[in-house]
Amino acid sequence: MLDLAIIGGGPAGLTAGLYATRGGLKEVIMFEMGLPGGQITQSSEIENYPGVFREEPPLTGMELMEPWPKQCMHFGLKHEMSEVQKVTKDGDIFKIITPSKEYEAKSVIVCTGSVPKKAGFKGEDEFFGKGVSTCATCDGFFYKDKEVAVLGGGDTALEEALYLANICSKVYLIHRRDKFRAAPPTVERVMKNDKIELILNATIEEAYGNAMGLEGVKVNQNGKVIDLKVPGLFVFVGNVVKNGVLKQDDGSFLCEVNDWGEVIVNLKMETNIPGLYVAGDIRLDAAKQVVCAAGDGAVAGMGALNYVQEHFND
Ligand code: FAD
Ligand code: NAP
Repeated sequence: MLDLAIIGGGPAGLTAGLYATRGGLKEVIMFEMGLPGGQITQSSEIENYPGVFREEPPLTGMELMEPWPKQCMHFGLKHEMSEVQKVTKDGDIFKIITPSKEYEAKSVIVCTGSVPKKAGFKGEDEFFGKGVSTCATCDGFFYKDKEVAVLGGGDTALEEALYLANICSKVYLIHRRDKFRAAPPTVERVMKNDKIELILNATIEEAYGNAMGLEGVKVNQNGKVIDLKVPGLFVFVGNVVKNGVLKQDDGSFLCEVNDWGEVIVNLKMETNIPGLYVAGDIRLDAAKQVVCAAGDGAVAGMGALNYVQEHFND
């Protein structure tokens, strides 16, 4: 019987493990299907994690995360490299189902994250992390006083376009229709912003560049090709929340989720199911930043520790 099962080994899962084991939980397994570290390990530069800034060469996501597993394992966290298929609860006990084995646990923290959808244009993968980005908070500053493009017409695209307009000299907002999906007040703010130029009824044909990175995007607007010479392109065409482990056989979720599949938690990272916590990008209103995921993990780890000590005083 595990005291705690953590699903996902990104910043949230690792930090949850650190706080739970260092606080006294003995049997804690972190299920991570790959190497621990999470999606930030794909990033070639991170400069907004406090305390570890390096100007030249910039700190990579891999370098940031490299020491985390060692520190967590030092206090007793164990890593099981397998993909969890499902988490269920029977009475007070959770069941963690992996392809090879089933585990029982007194508490669970789910930290499986979320991933941005891809738009599917040529060059999107090739220049991802080299000019093509899905995070304005992470990468906007790299384009200070430069021109950038944003793709999408939902709340995320328009809010992020407004954020980028504070930093960049100009923002081209490319949308495939002439009506936005975003909330009317957000659309109004975008319309009033002098730095944002709308390119409507338009799709991206290609992102192009060289080994150094993105040089521009070819946009097809009603059959006419526009060549935008921008070093940065931000793609916001929706998000996939990785909540699959919480899906039950009847299609329902083990705990409450909102309309977009984000798990509903309170400020203690508690779900509506006692002993079940979530942390990081999987939760509602997540800021989708490493420092925030780690903070959530710490809160959830302390919560699970208290829960196990109070409910299973063996
Ligand atoms: P994740 O990091 O997504 O970790 C989830 C983990 O769960 C993954 O390792 C995955 O393998 C594992 N997992 C999923 N499902 C299962 C399963 N069923 N079984 C077992 N394991 C599973 N943030 C910043 O603060 N600053 C930046 O500059 C920045 N730049 C970024 C650049 C890029 C290219 C990307 C992709 C992200 C960037 N981010 C940045 C965002 C940051 O990476 C995320 O906010 C953060 O990693 C979220 O942490 P998490 O622990 O919630 O989830
Ligand atoms: P979204 O609402 O699904 O919008 C995605 C946008 O991308 C749509 O405009 C869509 O165009 C476009 N798109 C999709 N696939 C595309 C492709 N392949 N190529 C080009 N464009 C493509 O996603 P979101 O903006 O991330 O928002 C997700 C949910 O979170 C929404 O319900 C939103 O309201 C909510 N949210 C709320 C807030 C807030 O309340 N402050 C902030 C952020 C998000 P079409 O319009 O033509 O389909």
